[in-house]
Amino acid sequence: MIVFQSLTRKKLETLLLPLGGPRPEVRARVRAQQLFQWVYQRHVTDWDQMTDLAKELRVWLKENVEILRLKERQSHQSLDGTHKFLWDLGDSKTVESVVIPAALDSKKNFPKSGFAGLPQDERMDSERWKRLTACISSQVGCAMACKFCLTGVQGFDRHLKIQEIVAQIHELRRLAPITNIVFMGMGEPLHNIDAVIDACEILIDQFGLGFSRRKITVSTSGLVPAIYRLAKESPVCLAVSLNATTDEQRESIMPVNRSYPIHELLKACDYYSENHTKYVTFEYVLLRGINDSLEDAHRLVKLLRHRSCKVNLIPFNEHPGSEFKRPEDLQVRSFQRILLTSGMTATVRISRGRDILAACGQLRSLFGTARGSTRHRDWKDAIAPTAASLTSQTVEGSGSTISG
Ligand code: SAH
Ligand code: SF4
Repeated sequence: MIVFQSLTRKKLETLLLPLGGPRPEVRARVRAQQLFQWVYQRHVTDWDQMTDLAKELRVWLKENVEILRLKERQSHQSLDGTHKFLWDLGDSKTVESVVIPAALDSKKNFPKSGFAGLPQDERMDSERWKRLTACISSQVGCAMACKFCLTGVQGFDRHLKIQEIVAQIHELRRLAPITNIVFMGMGEPLHNIDAVIDACEILIDQFGLGFSRRKITVSTSGLVPAIYRLAKESPVCLAVSLNATTDEQRESIMPVNRSYPIHELLKACDYYSENHTKYVTFEYVLLRGINDSLEDAHRLVKLLRHRSCKVNLIPFNEHPGSEFKRPEDLQVRSFQRILLTSGMTATVRISRGRDILAACGQLRSLFGTARGSTRHRDWKDAIAPTAASLTSQTVEGSGSTISG
């Protein structure tokens, strides 16, 4: 069986083409549009209910194509309204998505049962929300082994398939009018770039989930060759987890820096912002006594001042067993002030969902991950094939543009 959400509309058209009829290309195009609308916009899962499709097509679909529904294994409600969903992937693996609501009227409190417990008409009412951000996962675990991140400590288990990425949003859209998507859940999206590019195409498709490309942000720890590829193949926004101001410091917390040091990373970011209308966002996790000094702030200014970018400071979210500490609020503000007085745009991310371990870097699978997962000493093996193939693609395509 083919899974519907694994197909971009172009791929669906190709699949429908041999089904024939007069003017098969036009027919395939129209049918693909209709199917996308039935599935993604009207959330219909029974082919028989798609009444404007020919009977033979419905029979063919029944025999050959299925629509993936993710089962909710658990969900947790934070006191601040953030809601964490644990999805069952059907092979004993699980991943998490988090919905972070910003209500238009901040005085309107969430009920005890939280955002998901609001009556359906209120929850689905787009007028009620300023923003409903869905933070989604791209892998079970992560191979990058950043020292401060709970997902990194867990190790890599497997990539999510296109349909597993798309279905996270598809399920959430059934619950609420999600406005923004960030790939900041579990996993390194650019390590799974093929699936992420196709998933984003479906999320943006006007007949599919219909998100603006400006409302989707892919966040990476800095897989440089994949940044060039994303720049060429996808229109979505990019966030880069910089997290340090010297290579020595960055290597000590993010092993990826040994392969792609800061100057190479920033060159790739320049390429990205030159090819996209929106600036790159730099995320900077503040770790007490490690990268939060005022000298760090001045170095960060030097690195980024001349770039069109925005800095998002994330005070470290502590998690059980972590060796790092969150800086004092005063230190965070002083750090931010240095960036602001240098004319940069710098925000401090208010952590949401910390009480339910749903904030940045606190996600991990609760089930089915112990066996066969890649511990962090093995991360290079885990990304080696992808990194190698991406490097060759970038070298081919980038000669004139990057160095020129
Ligand atoms: N793998 C991608 C996206 C997922 S992590 C990446 O690294 O960018 C999303 C963000 O959470 C990253 O900016 C990461 O640096 C940050 N993060 C990870 N662990 C954290 C923690 N414990 N506290 C605060 N931020 C954290
Ligand atoms: Fe992976 Fe991102 Fe966590 Fe690093 S910060 S281990 S890249 S999820």
